[in-house]
Amino acid sequence: MFQINTNYQKLPGSYLFSTIAKKVNAYSAANPDKKIIRLGIGDVTQPIAPAIIEALHKAVDEMGHAETFHGYAPDLGYDFLRKAIAQNDYRDRGCDISEDEIFVSDGAKSDSANIQELFAADSKIAVCDPVYPVYVDSNVMAGRTGTYDPKTEIWSDVIYMPCTADNHFVPEFPKETPDLIYLCLPNNPTGTTLTKDKLQEWVDYANRVGAVIIYDGAYEAYISEENVAHSVYECDGAKTCAIELKSFSKNAGFTGVRLGYAVVPKELKCGGVSLRDMWARRHGTKFNGAPYIVQRAGEAVYSPEGKAQLKEQVAYYMKNAAAIKEGLKDAGYTVFGGVNAPYIWLKTPEGMTSWDFFDYLLEQANVVGTPGSGFGPSGEGYFRLTAFGTYENTLAALERIKKL
Ligand SMILES: *Cc1c(COP(=O)(O)O)cnc(C)c1O
Repeated sequence: MFQINTNYQKLPGSYLFSTIAKKVNAYSAANPDKKIIRLGIGDVTQPIAPAIIEALHKAVDEMGHAETFHGYAPDLGYDFLRKAIAQNDYRDRGCDISEDEIFVSDGAKSDSANIQELFAADSKIAVCDPVYPVYVDSNVMAGRTGTYDPKTEIWSDVIYMPCTADNHFVPEFPKETPDLIYLCLPNNPTGTTLTKDKLQEWVDYANRVGAVIIYDGAYEAYISEENVAHSVYECDGAKTCAIELKSFSKNAGFTGVRLGYAVVPKELKCGGVSLRDMWARRHGTKFNGAPYIVQRAGEAVYSPEGKAQLKEQVAYYMKNAAAIKEGLKDAGYTVFGGVNAPYIWLKTPEGMTSWDFFDYLLEQANVVGTPGSGFGPSGEGYFRLTAFGTYENTLAALERIKKL
């Protein structure tokens, strides 16, 4: 008789975004005349840039001719894309990363969920709290997180590193030594980041205690401040202790197209075994999950036209972010983020939980955001708004919030 992986049963109730969808649908059904503005979900809205569309068309046409047809993609991804990544995202920034350390994938979500398979079942994980929920969820399914307390929303075997206004959202080294440290920088949902010096301290710490940093740089393109690192490999010694995950979703609008990559340096080893060679055997994405057509689109992200067009898209979202931040400040809210990431993180008004504020905003302003508690126990009392809407809708939402 087959047995199931009972770790799946440990996942708490319903996923954050399905609870939100249920509440919004119920409200809309009861109030069909109300126009709801969504500043909640972390999905982009701007169309794919023209330079990328052109590359897609060209690649599609190639698939229709025997001489230019492409079948299964190479395991690590096509050379043309891995070279463009290594040059533009690393070597141009002084990071010594080569194309054979880059693994093209169908996105950072799958990579961030799958990467834990490289590590022992009893590995201890540390996460910033609050953070993107995939890191904890994938470790729950792998059986690493112990038992869940629904009251505190805490897993017994996860090391939480609280990031709140009290510590300026900068995690402190945990008391208990972790094996894996997840760092999402700039952070989803708080929008905050670490200075290069502070990140160097984390790299030194990981090397000292023998931990691996899983560095999620999905929002790297939004970094506007000078003293913030764009890659963990800008830090000395990062190649012996860090894996970096990147995505084309938030900087190039690929949430529906699907493309990302992982960097696993050759120097990253455990008892002589190379993690890079292990990841080359990874399952699930044997042919890396990214089609030829999409990898050509990814290459266009690094063309001069592509770069210029995407810079404009990021600027568009960051104009929204600035408007949200200013508007909320004018309305008397305490706000964070919005400078190096398209996320605004606000404190809920005195006496309101994250979900109280969700209901209040939905019912009184018909604006949908995301309760901070959905990103971890320390997110309680906070709320996330995203800059991915249209400028017009963003301004309209702020007008409504100001009137409350
Ligand atoms: C959106 C997001 C991702 C998802 O990236 P995909 O490439 O679309 O899978 C990864 N990490 C963080 C922190 C994100 O917010």
